[in-house]
Amino acid sequence: MGRVIFIGAGPGSADLVTVRGAQRLAEADVVLFDALTDTALRVYAPNAEWIDVGKRGFGGIPHAPQHPAYDSTGQDTINALLVRHAGDDKVVVRLKGGDPSVFGRLEEELDALADAGIDCEVVPGITAASAAAATTQRPLTRRGSGRSVALATAMTREGHVEAARRADTEVYYMAGKQLAALARRLLDAGWPAEAPVSVVSRAGWPDQIQSDHAVATLDRATVLHAGRPTIVTVGAGAVPVRARSPKIPGSARRPGRARHHQPS
Ligand code: SAH
Repeated sequence: MGRVIFIGAGPGSADLVTVRGAQRLAEADVVLFDALTDTALRVYAPNAEWIDVGKRGFGGIPHAPQHPAYDSTGQDTINALLVRHAGDDKVVVRLKGGDPSVFGRLEEELDALADAGIDCEVVPGITAASAAAATTQRPLTRRGSGRSVALATAMTREGHVEAARRADTEVYYMAGKQLAALARRLLDAGWPAEAPVSVVSRAGWPDQIQSDHAVATLDRATVLHAGRPTIVTVGAGAVPVRARSPKIPGSARRPGRARHHQPS
């Protein structure tokens, strides 16, 4: 009997995978990978069979793997592929974008493998919320003002947009196409119209874009981030930290600063 190793690929370029993730990848006979993982990771397992099981958002955009309507490789097919290859005595890596434990449908795949009696390991990865916080230098927690963080998906299983105010910092995944609706739900949930929102798309990639908004005008971010995986951070964690040291020449080119838009 083979085994399955779930590996978090991180949010962007291949160097954001963990050392353990890269080492386990080198053991793979078969790699089932998602749309949001970097093809540069292939160097770690050049002889493995790489199978694309990416689920693409409507319009061909890899954006909403959570919702059944957006699946292009159905979850059942992925589960069956995992079981079949591991049953063939192979080491199977299931490479997922970000952290497999965050909006990765990990529970369904673990369930299918447990039913088949197949051993599993999960290697964590950097989730998009952490990557966006790092590259924009906006910590998700702040002493005094940011004591709690909620990771949420804006989309329900039925395809509705939902929001809440349950933490000082709320980070919404899979909301990029629904920013106007998300803004309305945030206001309904009690967020002040002027509460800060930071929107980051393709966090961790060289072409990352970040923009600043208020809840009431969040819809203005729609065009800027269209067609890109997008993270929306609301509240304490959206506020920029004032630089304390003099600006280092060239620092404006760093990801997250390359295109910085004023509140709109
Ligand atoms: N397991 C992943 C999330 C998968 S759900 C993780 O831990 O990050 C897919 C959603 O994640 C996208 O719709 C988007 O909201 C977000 N996402 C993934 N990669 C991203 C990136 N590089 N930049 C911004 N958002 C990203």
